[in-house]
Parts: sequence; C-alpha cells; structure tokens
Amino acid sequence: MARFGASPATMASMITKHDLESLIGRASNGNPVLSLFLDMSVNENNKRTHRVFLSQQRAQFEELGHEAARVSDAQVEEVLARVQAWLDEGFDEANHGVVVYAEIGGGWFHALQFPVPVQNRLVVSDRPVIGPLAQVIEGYRHYGVILLDREHVRLLSVYLGTVLDEVTVRGDPIPTPSHVQAGGYSQTRFQRRKAEEMRHFFKEFAREVEDFAARFQPEDLVMLGTDENVAKFREFLPEAILKRVIHTGPMPVDGSTSEVLARLEPHLRAAQERAGRGVLEQVRDRVAHDYLAIAGLQGTLTALQEGKVDTLVLAANQRRDGCRCGQCGFVFARGLATCPYDGSTTLEEVEVVEEMVRMAEGQGVPIAFAEPGDVEDLKGAAALLRF
Ligand SMILES: [Zn+2]
Repeated sequence: MARFGASPATMASMITKHDLESLIGRASNGNPVLSLFLDMSVNENNKRTHRVFLSQQRAQFEELGHEAARVSDAQVEEVLARVQAWLDEGFDEANHGVVVYAEIGGGWFHALQFPVPVQNRLVVSDRPVIGPLAQVIEGYRHYGVILLDREHVRLLSVYLGTVLDEVTVRGDPIPTPSHVQAGGYSQTRFQRRKAEEMRHFFKEFAREVEDFAARFQPEDLVMLGTDENVAKFREFLPEAILKRVIHTGPMPVDGSTSEVLARLEPHLRAAQERAGRGVLEQVRDRVAHDYLAIAGLQGTLTALQEGKVDTLVLAANQRRDGCRCGQCGFVFARGLATCPYDGSTTLEEVEVVEEMVRMAEGQGVPIAFAEPGDVEDLKGAAALLRF
C-alpha cells in the first residue's frame, strides 16, 4: 500500500463553529468593534465592487456623525485603512466573502475569508456581529468524498467548495502474468487471486476511510465509483460511516479535484436543499398540528430564551429591531417603553436576529437559514421545540 497526503488549499483555512464560539465569548473591553462583511465576488465586468460600498459607508459616517457609535472621523479612517491594508496583502483572490472584525481605538483585528459571498454590511457596536458569519458556517456542510476503484481510494475533505485535505491510497496489484489466457485454468486461478486481492485492498481502504473520518470529522460523506465497486465497498464499512453517506455516484478515481467538485456540486446542493426542505416541512406540519413547534419572531425568540428550541429556522439576511431589558435581560422582538416582566424602563435597542443567532449558537441549537420567500408563511422565524 502506498499512501499520499496533501493539503492543497492553505488559504481556505476552515472557518468553523469554534470561530463563532470565540467571537461570542470575546469580552468587551469598552472599545467599539467594527464588523465588516464584504461581497468580494466579481461582477459581469470582472470587477469587485466592495470599494464602492466602503466609500458609501465612509460618506454615511461623515453625514450621520459618530455620536451614536462613539467613534471619531480619525478613528474611522484609521480602522478602514487597516481593513484596506489587509485586503491588499491578506486577501486571496480565489475567495468571494470576507468578514473583518476590528477594535476601534484598540489593537484587536480578526479577518476571515471564504469562497462564498456574503452580503455587504458594516456595523459599529460594542460586540462583534456574528449573524452573517453563522449563516455562512451553518449553510455549508463539511463533506468527505471517497473516490474508489479496485486499486485506489482517494479521500477528500471538502468545505465551502474547497478541498482542504487529500489522501490517496494505492494498492500494489498483482501483475497480470503473460501466460494467462482467456478461458484457461490459470485465468480462473488468476481471477480468484484478483478477487482476494480486492477484498484485501477494500479492507485496507475501509480502515483509511475510518481514520479519515475520525481525523477530519466530515458531517456527510459521498462515495464515488462504479455501482459494483461502491456496493462491494459498503460491505467493508461500519454502520457509523454508512449512516453519513448522502450521495453515491459514478466518477473516475483520477479526475482532477476541480472536476470532481464541479461534478459533485449540483448533487451536494440538492442534498442540502432536501435537508432544508425537510426541516421546513416538519415545522409546518407540527405548527399545523400545534405540536412542539412555533412560528413567528416573538414566539420563536421567547422559546429560545426558555431553552426550548431544538432547531431554529431563520430567513437569510434578515434584520429586525427590538430591545433588551437592562434589568431581567430578556430580549423582545419590538421596541418597548417598559419591560412587561418587571416594569423596568432601562431598555436598550438590539438587533433581534443577531441576538437569536447568539442564543442558538450558545445553546448548541442548529440553525437552518432559508430563502426569505420560502419562510414568509412562518413570518421569517420558526423552531422545532424540544418540549
Ligand atoms: Zn425586564
């Protein structure tokens, strides 16, 4: 057995829930934080348009003044200069989305980039805004791709349309002897030896798949090869691995990674859509039967704050104004003069969807972001409930 490994996509470092956790856990030191989301995809003229967005934002800052955001002109210029320096030096042209967090009047600077676009947005607040980043992370699953024939297995760790790691294992096949003739005794014997060899290889490949799954922790697996080989190989894999297989299909084992990903893309998208539709159907069905589900922003927000949510459904790129009570800490999906729970009048304005994403991530609740048009009937927010 020969084994080859490669980590081709060094720039597409994987963004994970750990990034969200550390951002949620970041303690404020009193300085405001810039959260900047940039769509870095190229338009029909092969140009990136983020500069236009950034100058609009700069102009808006000058127009509105910085009273609310507690930052000065000089500070805005300084932080945007840091962003520009990073874009010039740190941005990889292959990527289409950028998220930058930068402390205004302080040194903290954290930039992330990935191959999918995000909607342009700039926020200055006391904490990093994580909603749009959560949408990227929740929206793309981490796949393991198993490419197989009788003598090779190739394993790809794929995230956000990029190969992060690759392992190839090649068996050392018995050469076809020159004296083997069609239909003869030695041919039968040779075929038996080949079949034995395949079992030996597949056993070895199955062990590689298990190691790979343990090391890279892909959420879903895809198995590619001829129907016969895939069916045979399944017999060597444990149930825990088979359960994660979401797609099988034909594919030559030695295709280029870009070719493999391009051919897989529609299947993966379909699988993702199926999973998303499944959650929506379940929510609708349960809402209709008034059984462990809730729809609507306020109801869903309340259920989240009560720790009842199993799966959260949110319309993508949604923003809603609401408030948080300074006394009991409850968040409400609309502006209020007094808290209905304790009568407190110290209510601060918050962006409700951002709060919901933070709550869900903090509680380990998965979020399904849906196209806004697909969840209009659910008023943009819904949940499956645990109790
Ligand atoms: Zn209150």
